[in-house]
Amino acid sequence: VSRRAIGVDIGGTKIAVGAVSENGAIAALTTTPTLPERAFEEGLEAIVSAIGTVLDAAGWSVLDVCGIGIGCAGPLDLVRGTIENQFTLAGWKGCDIVTPLRERFGVPAWLENDADAALVGEVAFGAGRGCENVVMLTFGTGIGSGILVGGRIHRGHAGGHPEMGHVPVVDDGAICYCGRRGCLESVASGTAIAAAGRASAPDVFAARAAGDPGATRIVERALRATAVAAWSILHSFLPERLVLGGGLMEEHYEIFAEPVRLAIAATTLLPAGITVERAQRGSAAGLLGAARIAMERA
Ligand SMILES: [Zn+2]
Repeated sequence: VSRRAIGVDIGGTKIAVGAVSENGAIAALTTTPTLPERAFEEGLEAIVSAIGTVLDAAGWSVLDVCGIGIGCAGPLDLVRGTIENQFTLAGWKGCDIVTPLRERFGVPAWLENDADAALVGEVAFGAGRGCENVVMLTFGTGIGSGILVGGRIHRGHAGGHPEMGHVPVVDDGAICYCGRRGCLESVASGTAIAAAGRASAPDVFAARAAGDPGATRIVERALRATAVAAWSILHSFLPERLVLGGGLMEEHYEIFAEPVRLAIAATTLLPAGITVERAQRGSAAGLLGAARIAMERA
C-alpha cells in the first residue's frame, strides 16, 4: 500500500490541498478560496480540481495515493462525513464531503476536525514528534484545540470535538457566541485582541511594543488568560507537551509561552518534564495531518 496521500484543509476563507509523502514532505500544494456563500457543489468542484492540480504537479497518479484526508472547520458529523458548521460554512451545512471525493477519485477518504488534523500534523511531522499525550492550541481568528491521549485523538460525547478555546478565563469580558462571557477565545484570539484595541491585532501588538499603555493592558490580559487556560488544560489532561500554533504564534510565541512556562513551574501536582513548544508546520499542519490520517487509516 502506498504511503502517499492527499491532504485537504477547508477553512472559512481558503482551502489548501497538498500531495504529501510519507515523511511529511509536500510534493505539491495549491490553495483556492472557500467562498462559502456559493453552492456546495461549486466548492466541491474547486476541491476536485485542486486535487487534480496537485497530483499533476507532483507527477503522481491517483493510483499512487492511499487516500484523501480532509480537515475541515467544525462542527462536523464524522460518521456521516458531513459539514455541520453554521458559523463559517453555513451554506454547506449538512453536505457530505467524503462520499463524492471517494467516488470521484476511487480512493478512500476521511473527514476530521481541522484543529485535530493540525494536531496530528504536528505530532507526526512537527512540534509533537515522539509524544503520545499532547494538547495543541491554535491562536488565530478564533482559538482551536486538539487533544491527543495515548496517541489517539480525544473525542467527546457523540464523537464530538472538545473546544478548549471556550474554557472560562475571566468573569467579565465580552459575551461569546458559545454562550458565555470571558472565555479564552473572547479574550486571547486575534479577533478579541483586535476588537479590544479597535485596531488590527498586529497593530495592537505593535502599539504594545512601542509602549502604548492601552495596548499593553489588552495583550497582558490575553497572556494571563492563556496562562489560566493552560493551568486548566494541564491539570485536566496532563499532556507531556503543550503546542502553541496559529497565526498569532508566528510573531508572538515567546510572550505567550513565558506565562505558560511559569504556570508549569508553579504547579505542585504535575510531574516534571512537561514542555511548551511552538508549532513547526505553520499553516500546513492541517493538510499534513489530514494526509497523515489517510496514511494511518488506509
Ligand atoms: Zn466562547
